[in-house]
Amino acid sequence: MVEPQSQLLAPPSEDAPGEQAGARHISGSTTWNIVNLVRRRLGEDGVRRLLEVAGESRRASELEDDATWSSFWQGKALFEAAAEVLDDPHAPRHVGASIARADMTSEVAALLRSLGSPGELLRSIAQVAPKFCTVVKMEALEIGAAHALIGAVSVEGYPRYELLCDFTIGLLSQAPLPFDLPPATVTEEQCELRGDPRCVFRVVWEQEQADRVAPAQLSNEATELAVLAARVETFQATAADLVSADDVATVLSRITARAGLAVRAPRHLLVVQTTPDAPLHIHHQGFRDEDAKQVASELMGDAPDDHGGSRLIADVASARRRYGRLAAVYDEGITFLPTEHLQLAVYARLAAAALDSATALEESRAQAASARALFDLARALANVGTSDDVAGRLATAVPAVVDCDTSVVGLWDGESAVLRVAACTGVAPDVEDRLRAMAVRLSAMLERQEPQFLDVSTTDEFLRDLLSATGVIATVVVPIVSNGELLGVVNAAVTHNPERLRAAGHVLERLTSLADIAATALQNSRLVEHIRHQAMYDLITGLPNKRMLEDRVAAALAQSERTGNGFTLFFLDLDRFKNVNDTLGHAVGDQLLKQVAQRLLATLREEDTVARLGGDEFAVLLPRIESVDVATVIADKVWAALQEPFLLGSQQLFITSSIGLAVAPHDGDHYDTLLKHADIAMYRAKQQGRNRYAAYSPSLHEDLSYLLKLESDLHGALAGDQLRIYFQPQVSLVDGEVAGVEVLVRWEHPQHGLLGPDSFLSIAEETGLIVEIDAWVLREACSQARRWLDDGLPPLRVGVNLSTRDLHDPALVDAVATSLGRSRLEAARLQLEVTERVVGAGSDQVLDAMSRLRGLGVSLAVDDFGTGSSGLSSLRNCPVDTLKIDKTFVQEVTSDQPDVPLLAAMIGLARDLGLSVVAEGVESTEQADFLRRHGCDLAQGYLFGRPMDVEHFTDVLRRRVPPRRFA
Ligand code: C2E
Ligand code: CA
Ligand code: CA
Repeated sequence: MVEPQSQLLAPPSEDAPGEQAGARHISGSTTWNIVNLVRRRLGEDGVRRLLEVAGESRRASELEDDATWSSFWQGKALFEAAAEVLDDPHAPRHVGASIARADMTSEVAALLRSLGSPGELLRSIAQVAPKFCTVVKMEALEIGAAHALIGAVSVEGYPRYELLCDFTIGLLSQAPLPFDLPPATVTEEQCELRGDPRCVFRVVWEQEQADRVAPAQLSNEATELAVLAARVETFQATAADLVSADDVATVLSRITARAGLAVRAPRHLLVVQTTPDAPLHIHHQGFRDEDAKQVASELMGDAPDDHGGSRLIADVASARRRYGRLAAVYDEGITFLPTEHLQLAVYARLAAAALDSATALEESRAQAASARALFDLARALANVGTSDDVAGRLATAVPAVVDCDTSVVGLWDGESAVLRVAACTGVAPDVEDRLRAMAVRLSAMLERQEPQFLDVSTTDEFLRDLLSATGVIATVVVPIVSNGELLGVVNAAVTHNPERLRAAGHVLERLTSLADIAATALQNSRLVEHIRHQAMYDLITGLPNKRMLEDRVAAALAQSERTGNGFTLFFLDLDRFKNVNDTLGHAVGDQLLKQVAQRLLATLREEDTVARLGGDEFAVLLPRIESVDVATVIADKVWAALQEPFLLGSQQLFITSSIGLAVAPHDGDHYDTLLKHADIAMYRAKQQGRNRYAAYSPSLHEDLSYLLKLESDLHGALAGDQLRIYFQPQVSLVDGEVAGVEVLVRWEHPQHGLLGPDSFLSIAEETGLIVEIDAWVLREACSQARRWLDDGLPPLRVGVNLSTRDLHDPALVDAVATSLGRSRLEAARLQLEVTERVVGAGSDQVLDAMSRLRGLGVSLAVDDFGTGSSGLSSLRNCPVDTLKIDKTFVQEVTSDQPDVPLLAAMIGLARDLGLSVVAEGVESTEQADFLRRHGCDLAQGYLFGRPMDVEHFTDVLRRRVPPRRFA
């Protein structure tokens, strides 16, 4: 047997005594990253030089293949060559870092975070690293909150070299990344090269925030399934590759060569017998031939030894035949993970299917042409599809193999213990419909799992009816069985000349062959379907994921087509979730998502599907809800449930959500359209700011494109100098003079003219631009206030609005201090307005920001008071000075209704708390009168002046009285 990759160079002169020829110690991912680094920096020319300098005879594409392992010496030569051609002694460090980073993509990062801390992640890296580089043993010697000591010892015979230490430094430095921390600093405190007994790396990272909540724990199972699901795709591509070969020998060598894709390990060995008396085929990678023989004969034994877990062994067996075994082998001491067991098993099954197809072909060479059909089927089936695919292909193959008129394939549904027709050939469409609608209980024939011949003379009434209904006069039914388990049946039937079935002795034999091949394929497809199914759940929340939602929506659509019943789809998005992730970290974000999921489930019916689409997006499928009115009631309920505070560790968190809804089939009869329409509606809900949900309507498309354009324009608004500030006077109700001003932003849009905040602030909030906009407004407001003072105008209190985002922005307090400093404005002249909903939510972070602002000497106002749910009592502990009563309360005062006790009580209570009161939205003299009588200090509203530009407001200030003076 030829070693598939025999081009191994002799190790350099310092050849390790006893190193096996073809020994493999360095994983393909390492060499891949070396080649990649060189290519990024120097292009293909650089890669050519790399290979030349390293004395490498393999092609770059091989080194970039995960399945290609290298010897210790090849790895060393590649590292040295990389450092040389890049003229960078730290090239290995970059390689180490990129290997570590490759695992830190979003999904995997969540898994890594579930380890809890950078220290724990380092512990796991130390455990796994020897699986990539098997000549170094690593160990976590000490794990602290902000540091770790990692020890590394070279295996005897494989000397340490400086570049390897550098590589390790790169690898270890990345551990803090999944925790949203910058890379760690790594120093090598002891080194084998300096005569120390081992290398010791000190890894130091920034300590995490102490009040971090525990990360979302993922079950091991979820983690493993995620890995496995990712593998299944690769396997399927592999299966196609395997069966594209026509001869057994090629199939065998491909199986071993690709086994490295199934599980990572330096050595693989496949030993099979294609027929019970054929000689043993041994294929191997990474063994010496003599050793391979030895291992092969061990593997063919009844229960081969797994050498303490360092050998992973899988049976290569199909329903047709037991072929042999496949093993992945590490040096002793390095063991396999549970997922890898499953992976190798799946791979071994594929291999068995490929062997079925190749052996069928060999047999077909000896036999008649009809056997070619057997082979074609085997080849088609080795490429695993769904169970229905398998059934379909099988039904088509039958008439090609057996002389018959029709064929039906039934699949056994173990859960409901019935047989269902899954595919037919040669059957009229109306008959097929009837057959498919039938569910056959287990009959004695099936129980015996034996082939059977039936004709119209049968005594079984059901079968007789069935035969005559389908026009069949005789049939052979063969069960599809694997390991004693019934998977289905295949039949061949004739509508005339029944002797064709009875006379030909080979009919049964051929059908049985077909059934055997199908059995393997069915088992594979079941396994894949099972894994697929498991891969249909979201890792963080455990909810169905996008793929599963798609399946369920498709099913609901199919049902709605049959029954005429519609259903509703929600698209739900958490407002400003990114904010949570950015300010509190991903661990808190994950935790929040989990709680949101739980709350959604608790709010909805059992038959509803709640799915996570990704990020902060969820979807809900509500079967049989087909009226928009009912749907909005449910949307309202969901929205309200998410309004309640979330408790994350010691933090209370308030979030809001926007929901878009689309009703099928009216708003779309396809998954993509429906989801898109629900999404458009959600966007609408967001744009409407305070609105909690919106239903889809075709006109939203136009609104949407307008809004999207506006969003992109807004990015240029600041730079393009298109923002303006307007000023609205606040007037003393005692003497009628202008005592303050509120600064309000406007956007002079080149096409749409002057836009008010309502038309663009929600976009600004959503995109985060609000922080920049507010900072700009603040700077402008302060410098304008300074100009008025310099011009000798009377001093004013200037009110500037803040958004939620600002209060979560760590730079806020500094920005305020800077604006004050630059304009030399007294802090007491500035009042910052925060809406009641934010204050009421009172997260620790917001309260802290407010206290620090007050520490600067600025005053704080609660804006839109009365619209939130906090109530006055919660303001007792809040660092605020002023209450701005929302205009809805003020506007309750009319000439018809001169007394509004609630408004009076609000003013009274605020005064009791020692807060000053500003009434907003004062439009009439009745309102102003009422407010003055009840002791309100200041009033703001159209009665005294609309928001105006700086010229107009300066004019007002010169005259010291508002444009319309309160009599
Ligand atoms: P707000 O803070 O409650 O500002 C008062 C709003 O009430 C202003 O709307 C003002 O024009 C309007 N208003 C004033 N007097 C009357 C009246 O007598 N009757 C009626 N019906 N309305 C009156 P505007 O300018 O459209 O601002 C809307 C909201 O946008 C503001 O509500 C504030 O929350 C926000 N906003 C404005 N400028 C900024 C800013 O620079 N930054 C931030 N974050 N938000 C801002
Ligand atoms: Ca305000
Ligand atoms: Ca307000």
